[in-house]
Amino acid sequence: MVEGLEIPTPFVKRALVIGAGIAGMQAALDIANSGYQVIMVDKLPSIGGRMHQLSETFPTLDCAQCILTPRTVEVGHHDNIKLLTYSEVESIEGDVGDFRVRVRRKPAYVNWDVCTGCGVCQEKCPKRVVSEFERGMGKRKAIYTLSPQAVPNKPVIDAENCIYFVRGRCRVCEKVCPVGAIDFEQEEHTVEERVGAIIVATGYDLYPTDGLGQYGYGRIPDVIDGLAFERLLSASGPTAGQIKRPSDGEVPKEVVFVQCAGSRDPELGVPYCSKFCCMYTAKHAMLYKHRVHDGQAYVFYIDIRAGGKGYEEFVRRAMEEDRVLYLRGKVSRIFQDDGKVMVWGTDTLSGLPLEVAADLVVLATATVPHAEARELGQMLGIETDEHGFFVEADGNMHPLETVRPGIFLAGAATGPKDIPEVVAQGSGAAAKVVSLFARWGER
Ligand SMILES: Cc1cc2nc3c(=O)[nH]c(=O)nc-3n(C[C@H](O)[C@H](O)[C@H](O)COP(=O)(O)OP(=O)(O)OC[C@H]3O[C@@H](n4cnc5c(N)ncnc54)[C@H](O)[C@@H]3O)c2cc1C
Repeated sequence: MVEGLEIPTPFVKRALVIGAGIAGMQAALDIANSGYQVIMVDKLPSIGGRMHQLSETFPTLDCAQCILTPRTVEVGHHDNIKLLTYSEVESIEGDVGDFRVRVRRKPAYVNWDVCTGCGVCQEKCPKRVVSEFERGMGKRKAIYTLSPQAVPNKPVIDAENCIYFVRGRCRVCEKVCPVGAIDFEQEEHTVEERVGAIIVATGYDLYPTDGLGQYGYGRIPDVIDGLAFERLLSASGPTAGQIKRPSDGEVPKEVVFVQCAGSRDPELGVPYCSKFCCMYTAKHAMLYKHRVHDGQAYVFYIDIRAGGKGYEEFVRRAMEEDRVLYLRGKVSRIFQDDGKVMVWGTDTLSGLPLEVAADLVVLATATVPHAEARELGQMLGIETDEHGFFVEADGNMHPLETVRPGIFLAGAATGPKDIPEVVAQGSGAAAKVVSLFARWGER
């Protein structure tokens, strides 16, 4: 999309990738392996995006960490990739071939150049906080890494919860750090980078919890979302892979999975389909049955969208081999009664009312863009749609380009997509960048 454009000389053959989920990492590795430098920015302390929180992946049931970790390690050690985590893009000036990008680096209050990632500070920190990474199912310390597999494996201090920052005393982490890496004086600072092309791969978020009150979410402890269930299933999660319900730690014997919780519902949520929930719900129900053999899994669905290679067969397997009971109907009410979570709905095939007394309810909540995506779009001079997803230059013929030359898109930042699709997009966007660089002379 740069035909007829004035290309600056010299053309800066370095790329910026915003968002270090699996799409952004794939793009960064492909560009870096082609011999060009990449600056990779992520707002979180470590890379991997949402995939880092997953247990196993449909339809192959690969262990997510086993396939992700080699990638995160490769990105973390690649000579051509400069990682700027715990950072956000503050401003962008210039055009294709010569963008000047200012990146705001948040203070970790730990000198990462000195820190060895030994973990003693986290072990000894006296302050325990509900973990966002564990979706509220587990705790972390006030000095923390997102997970034991974090890349970079360097902690940050959460100043809002750190006893020293709140009350002016503690500094246990400083006392126990063997290399003197704790730095309470660290301040936010900005770095400037010059790049010739940009890939936006900022991914997705889940529908805000306060919008799902009608399903009892936030009110009933045993109503959780799909990502929280992923953490329960994960060997590295808060229950070491055992399925225990949050209220009392008991193994749930009846679990209801609710699809389209907020999706395809213009009145209560978003009008569009979140695309991967039919598949991850089948995966969840199947993995639940693999762990709790005498348990019963129910899935409430509107219809099943399993349009991918091996996907239809995977859902059939959940129904036929693992005996997951699929109930076609919309849930009308979820409430607590005598230690159970009551789920009411209507079977739209028979027209009969349905009632399940469940021990745990898992909501397949809608996929939404990040709250700050619009602001980032404005800064980059690229469009977002009415929901906040980034808009492609042309959804048919230019799905990876934006209207702005030199700025490309990859992954769930443009709308819900599963891992194979976002990986393909990451490679596609990288190929666009590499071909752009290759067209402007020798490196
Ligand atoms: C419960 C659940 C289960 C799933 N199971 C599967 C499965 O089994 N198989 C499958 O194929 N798919 C599955 N998915 C979908 C999968 O999570 C996505 O396909 C994948 O994570 C999308 O990758 P991404 O890189 O596009 O986005 P993300 O994983 O969202 O990564 C985006 C990255 O960008 C960063 N970022 C965001 N905004 C900014 C910003 N402004 N500045 C800097 N950085 C930013 C984020 O911190 C993040 O690291 C599941 C999803 C859910 C919710």
